[in-house]
Amino acid sequence: VENQTKKKRHNKNRMSPSFSLILSLSRLFPFLQGMAFSLQERQILGLQGLLPPKIESQDIQASVTTTKTLPRYIYLMGIQERNEKLFYRVLMEDIEELMPIVYTPTVEPLPVVQAVVVTDGERILGLGDLGVFGMGIPVGKLCLYTACAGIRPERCLPVVIDVGTDNEALLKDPFYMGLYQKRDRSQLYDDLIDEFMEAVVEKYGQDTLIQFEDFGNHNAFRLMRKYREKYCTFNDDIQGTAAVALAGLLAAQRAIGKPITEHRVLFCGAGEAALGIANLITMSMVEKGLTQDEARKKIWMFDKDGLLVKGRAQETDSNQEAFVHESPGDVQSFLDAVNVIQPTAIIGVSGAGRLFTHDVLKKMGTLNKRPIIFALSNPTTKAECTAEDAYTLTDGRCLFASGSPFDTVTLADGRVFTPGQGNNAYIFPGVALAVILSGVRHISDTVFLEAAKTLADQLTDEELAEGRLYPPLSNIREVSVQMAVKVVRFVYANNMAFRYPEPKDKDTFVRSTVWDINYDSFLPDIYEWKGMNPVQSKLKTF
Ligand code: NAD
Repeated sequence: VENQTKKKRHNKNRMSPSFSLILSLSRLFPFLQGMAFSLQERQILGLQGLLPPKIESQDIQASVTTTKTLPRYIYLMGIQERNEKLFYRVLMEDIEELMPIVYTPTVEPLPVVQAVVVTDGERILGLGDLGVFGMGIPVGKLCLYTACAGIRPERCLPVVIDVGTDNEALLKDPFYMGLYQKRDRSQLYDDLIDEFMEAVVEKYGQDTLIQFEDFGNHNAFRLMRKYREKYCTFNDDIQGTAAVALAGLLAAQRAIGKPITEHRVLFCGAGEAALGIANLITMSMVEKGLTQDEARKKIWMFDKDGLLVKGRAQETDSNQEAFVHESPGDVQSFLDAVNVIQPTAIIGVSGAGRLFTHDVLKKMGTLNKRPIIFALSNPTTKAECTAEDAYTLTDGRCLFASGSPFDTVTLADGRVFTPGQGNNAYIFPGVALAVILSGVRHISDTVFLEAAKTLADQLTDEELAEGRLYPPLSNIREVSVQMAVKVVRFVYANNMAFRYPEPKDKDTFVRSTVWDINYDSFLPDIYEWKGMNPVQSKLKTF
């Protein structure tokens, strides 16, 4: 803290006094009393839009801290900095218990943003519509940008766009912070998102990366299509998921020794994840020589209404069209689909629990020497099957991956398998780092194809033999950096990079930019001479 304070003082001394004053004032207003500013105050002080729309009384603000211990602690830490009156009211009312909590974090936000993760909170993980409480997702994703790929934390901006919520419980919750209204599904929604995209580019530059996260189906696909050629953007639920799943398939293909073009894939679920994966598998098959039509015919989808086939009673949407085939026979259940289609791989992305029944798993074991079984739905309780069932019911022959972690499985004969975890964190931080560093303006799907290939390549033969389809998560930092290096090479080679001059040595270039957690030196420059590092120069002063 002492060092940080010194640095802050040092930085402040370099600013002009008037700039410093404007900066302090503009930061001060929203923080004086948090959401207790009245509508009139908000309008007069220009705070409209800087605060959530809810106007809270001090009683409500103070009562938030009387719930559970951890949220109370976190809340207190926040208000100590932002809202002195509230902080002291809460502290004075419960001084005996709260007195020990005294801490002043030093935060110095910088206005140079390179990456934005945005959600409208409609479909947060398996939890559904959380409205503005979905903010945890962009914050968490950006933490992984830094932890996995060394993207500087102060260059990352989490955003939640508040268009209301359809979650009745939140609309009745006195502590909900967002708009108390149903989700806006009119043209106003589109106008707002348009305005947001324009504002990001205007403020932070044309090549600012904007990652879309946890938007509902109906918005996710159309916004991706609308913006992908106009902004530097991608949708992680669709494209990131696609790359991580394809990487798993490519790794499995290494173990099986059969090219991707010879696989037949049956999805359980036909939503964002399934369609993203299916499109990328198609691209991968086309790269290996099939036509797009031939590739699509090898991919089948089964959703909550059954197999996607022509003329079925239930509607399919335009995103699914490419994977709607002539009916292969009478299919009522997922097991029927497995029997009729005879897939080499089944991929579960339905979010609906254990749909890969024992019969389905056994059948996959009879149909294939090495069946591919991906149960990607999260959390673990929603996975289509457990790792144990998959390995046990296929005599340890399957290549298994899940979305959430499963423990290692030991079979009765003593063989041990480490299930692969197809976590999107293997993809999006590395891709983001490469995109940011090379000034990519539009992220093509070929970038995700390249990312999938580099991820599969990083798995060693030993890891593959253990049953893994992804490198251990503990290596994710190196995996992401290596992926970034390869993607940087790829985008420069394919004229997608706009940052010049092109670095000759891409590996050194990427590694030199990654942010690390070692403390900076605060010694005055005079001690850092003749090429000595700070520790050597510090010793010299003794
Ligand atoms: P989505 O809502 O877009 O799609 C869900 C699909 O599942 C729909 O097509 C729906 O019809 C189908 N479905 C629902 N119930 C079904 C049933 N009983 N039988 C068959 N199909 C059924 O959701 P999504 O974004 O595609 O995500 C789906 C799941 O995939 C979630 O559980 C999510 O956690 C998981 N996921 C995992 C990863 C990963 O592992 N890296 C990445 C993204 C999503």
